[in-house]
Amino acid sequence: MSRKRVLILGGGHAGVRCARELIAHRRAGDEIDITIVSRENVEVWHGLMPQIVSGVLQAQHVLIPLREILPGVTIYTREIESIDPIKRQVVLSLGGESDEVALEADYMVIALGSVTDLSRFPGLTEHALQTKTIGDFIHLRNHLIEMLEAASVTTDAAERQRRLTFVVAGAGYAGVEIASEANEFLRASLRAYPMIAPSELRVVTVDILSRVLPTFNDHLAQRVVDRMRNRGIELRLGVGIKEATAGAVVLADGSRIETRSIIATVGIGTNPLVRGLPVELQRGRIPCDPFCRVPGWPGVYAVGDNAAVPDAASGQPFGAMVMVAFGEGRQAAYNILAEVRGEPPAPCHPARFGEVALLSRRYGVAQVRGVALHGWPASLVSRALFLSFMPTWRRRLGLALHWMGSALMPDNLTPLPIGRSNTVVPMRFGAGETIVREGELSGRFYVITAGEVEVLQLVHGEEQVIRKLGPGDHFGEIAALGDRRRTATVRTLTQTSVLSLARQDFAALVEHLPALQDALTQPRPSTRFPPS
Ligand SMILES: Cc1cc2nc3c(=O)[nH]c(=O)nc-3n(C[C@H](O)[C@H](O)[C@H](O)COP(=O)(O)OP(=O)(O)OC[C@H]3O[C@@H](n4cnc5c(N)ncnc54)[C@H](O)[C@@H]3O)c2cc1C
Repeated sequence: MSRKRVLILGGGHAGVRCARELIAHRRAGDEIDITIVSRENVEVWHGLMPQIVSGVLQAQHVLIPLREILPGVTIYTREIESIDPIKRQVVLSLGGESDEVALEADYMVIALGSVTDLSRFPGLTEHALQTKTIGDFIHLRNHLIEMLEAASVTTDAAERQRRLTFVVAGAGYAGVEIASEANEFLRASLRAYPMIAPSELRVVTVDILSRVLPTFNDHLAQRVVDRMRNRGIELRLGVGIKEATAGAVVLADGSRIETRSIIATVGIGTNPLVRGLPVELQRGRIPCDPFCRVPGWPGVYAVGDNAAVPDAASGQPFGAMVMVAFGEGRQAAYNILAEVRGEPPAPCHPARFGEVALLSRRYGVAQVRGVALHGWPASLVSRALFLSFMPTWRRRLGLALHWMGSALMPDNLTPLPIGRSNTVVPMRFGAGETIVREGELSGRFYVITAGEVEVLQLVHGEEQVIRKLGPGDHFGEIAALGDRRRTATVRTLTQTSVLSLARQDFAALVEHLPALQDALTQPRPSTRFPPS
């Protein structure tokens, strides 16, 4: 019997739990090889990220390196470009130019999570500060500091108020925690800005629902509302966001909040790879049976935020939550091992410890196994729960020591500037080097600033020169705007310099600049330089 290949797509909570369970419970006779593919080589602990805003935690505390916790697993840190669930095949890239890899498996676990989709709210895509990735949170903290700096020297009263007003869209877990952490951080920072009065600072939380934290009981939800109001946060509940501009948020009741900071915790969308699968999605998620299997696709499982796994008792899908992701990841592993061994599968029952939310260093709310807590006892329980789920003792100890230290040390105002100096990247190539290759996945658009290149296409297996290009010419737009495969090879004839632009940035420019689109679609002379 050949070894069975298990391929896990996504290195978040669900994918990692699946891999760890397989490692822990496989037997020598099972003969399985485990591969995981993810954009980053870390597991991101989203529930801890709001604490980055106030500086209680730093990025390394919420990121767990996959290579530390998945011994013996083959890890591809790559972008998944396409999935064929019938053949159980995937195509991966490095996210940029070429270097494509195709993998196939006997068992495939789809654990790609969700994405942020703000397209329902006009203006939010353009102007909101997002809260999904670690970069989003570092950027958000930097932005809060930037606003205090700018406001401290702004003489225009209206603009100063705009810079000191922070609107958080959403009052679920992330919204309540981020608003509270941001509020604590901003108010504590005012001691370094004596020219700003505490009364000038506004933090406003807006939600279309008329209560916060929908999964908590009414009593605890009211405690959270009271606590937020006592700390100076304004709550606008029962009213949705209508639109946003560069300088304001307009609510559904017509009221307008002037601000330079809209922090979005709303807009959970379907991962584009999942949207492209040949299946009718169930409210944006892959329909599964209670065993986490996808009906109609033998050997394919789906877990976590991208899966609708029904509770065997109620038939209702489990929610998109971390404990559910853990439970489904584990269950998929258990059922794959059962399939390999010819044993029956078992339905998924995610553990239900309860809910916790941390609002500041010393205040939390928790409902754990029917017991409702608030204040510092809940903040201790919440931290203890996070520590118990950390995958290694080293991580647990590091996090615990850091929390103890941050309870004693005051907030600090250090930003972490992460801006790149260039988004248009200059590149140099020697004579005879290939810049892009026909048939490969595209990553960038190029403008030649110096030198000469030839454009080649395969005709009956032979490369033929179809064009030569020089300074001021461009290439790469066909694949960057189309189906992503390069339609020709570009090779340098002399030492060549180019400016290159990432595909997403280029596509956004073309979409909004019709003149550029027209210029790019003009027919080009077949040969700019006479062939030598
Ligand atoms: C700010 C924030 C706070 C939260 N707080 C809580 C909380 O307090 N309690 C709670 O229960 N839940 C909370 N959640 C939700 C919880 O984090 C999710 O339910 C959980 O992460 C889902 O796990 P997952 O494995 O399905 O997805 P994820 O953890 O998102 O993992 C998906 C993985 O797939 C990878 N991936 C996606 N597309 C590609 C691609 N094309 N190529 C390669 N890799 C790809 C990603 O890089 C990632 O590694 C919070 C979420 C956020 C964003």
